[in-house]
Amino acid sequence: MPESESGVSSPTAARASESPLRSSAPAVETGPVRARPARAEAERWIGEAVDGGALERDQAERLAAGLEDAGLREALCEGARAIKRAETGDRVTVSRNVFIPLTNLCRNRCTYCTFAKLPGTADAHTYTIDEVEEVVRGGIATGCVEALMCLGDKPEIAYRSYREELAGRGYASTTDLILEACKRTVALGMLPHTNAGILSREDMARLRPWNASMGLMLETTSARLRGKGMPHFHAPDKEPATRIRMHEEAGELKIPFTSGLLLGIGENDAERVDTLWTIRELSLRYGHIQEAIVQPFHPKDDTKMRAVAPLADEIVVGWVALARLILPRAVHVQAPPNLGRGMLPKLLDAGVDDWGGVSPVTVDFINPEAPWPALLALREETEAAGFRLFERGPVYPDWILERPDFFDPQMRALLPKYANDAGYAQRRNPQSREEAA
Ligand code: SF4
Repeated sequence: MPESESGVSSPTAARASESPLRSSAPAVETGPVRARPARAEAERWIGEAVDGGALERDQAERLAAGLEDAGLREALCEGARAIKRAETGDRVTVSRNVFIPLTNLCRNRCTYCTFAKLPGTADAHTYTIDEVEEVVRGGIATGCVEALMCLGDKPEIAYRSYREELAGRGYASTTDLILEACKRTVALGMLPHTNAGILSREDMARLRPWNASMGLMLETTSARLRGKGMPHFHAPDKEPATRIRMHEEAGELKIPFTSGLLLGIGENDAERVDTLWTIRELSLRYGHIQEAIVQPFHPKDDTKMRAVAPLADEIVVGWVALARLILPRAVHVQAPPNLGRGMLPKLLDAGVDDWGGVSPVTVDFINPEAPWPALLALREETEAAGFRLFERGPVYPDWILERPDFFDPQMRALLPKYANDAGYAQRRNPQSREEAA
């Protein structure tokens, strides 16, 4: 099996990077055609995975080829549900958070993105620390524990005006800004989770003491999507090998890490399986992947991909189930509820055990057209489907209780102030008085 330059196997990325990219690459290339399995064969594979075995890669690819088949999807969901029930019972988690887009400048230009702005345009913005504090205070007042620092990727490489702005504030890099924001957040009484795109090992090591967890969606291992005319052509940080390397370095640094699969930006079934398989291998090698997000692409006006149809809901559900069957059991499977309106019971049926961050304060700046559900409504819908909803912080209870070696001593000492004895979110710090007010 060929290996990516970073070590973890990603055959699709390797194959694509070896091939000359075609300038007229189609939006979707179907990839190798796999024969879907007969129902009995599929049910046997799924049953073996539920009973403690693991799907083989070839089996996963052939099951993916059958996702149009409603009966096969139901078999996949049944298996994924059994694994979810065995691991987390009827518990589903959510993180009450605030979303702080520290800067919406980004050196990349993914063709589906409306988050990134150009310097000097009306909506371009880089937060001051005062603005960070204001959002954090709003979070504390509404009982939030997690402060999600989510921002564009290394804008200082692309924009002189941004470099000058950073320098004027006394920062040499975006990481300096993130560090200051995280320190202020911790001082005020919330736990940061940083997703800043590609960070170096040194950047992550600096941020680790001030972050409960960090993340980077792997999104896709398809290097084909970096080709001319493709969504990641102008996005050097979407090079799969670069993203895999950051996952590896986060693992070496023992950072509880969020990854994920982005569905429907032009990748084919084999590439989706390859992405999930790569996350699986990273988790097995380093044990640091605490959750994998299965996120469907939603087309946005004002983007080059506005006319690209998203995946049908039932196919998204099929991929959630397949993710649950492919990924190690220790990896929680998350689906963003604001991107799954009207299909939450189906997502739960497919093995989802976490809704990710939901904010009573801030919008989803990545998908501003998709409002968060109210937490009360999310609880009611989750319970109506036969599950119980629990609030967590940026790290899951099992990590707080069982994996102390994954936290810097400073963060390890902080976590109990935000968790009850079972590891779920509960404020025990002085700011809880504000929450009660
Ligand atoms: S999707 Fe992320 S990396 Fe791509 S342009 Fe938007 S902010 Fe930048």
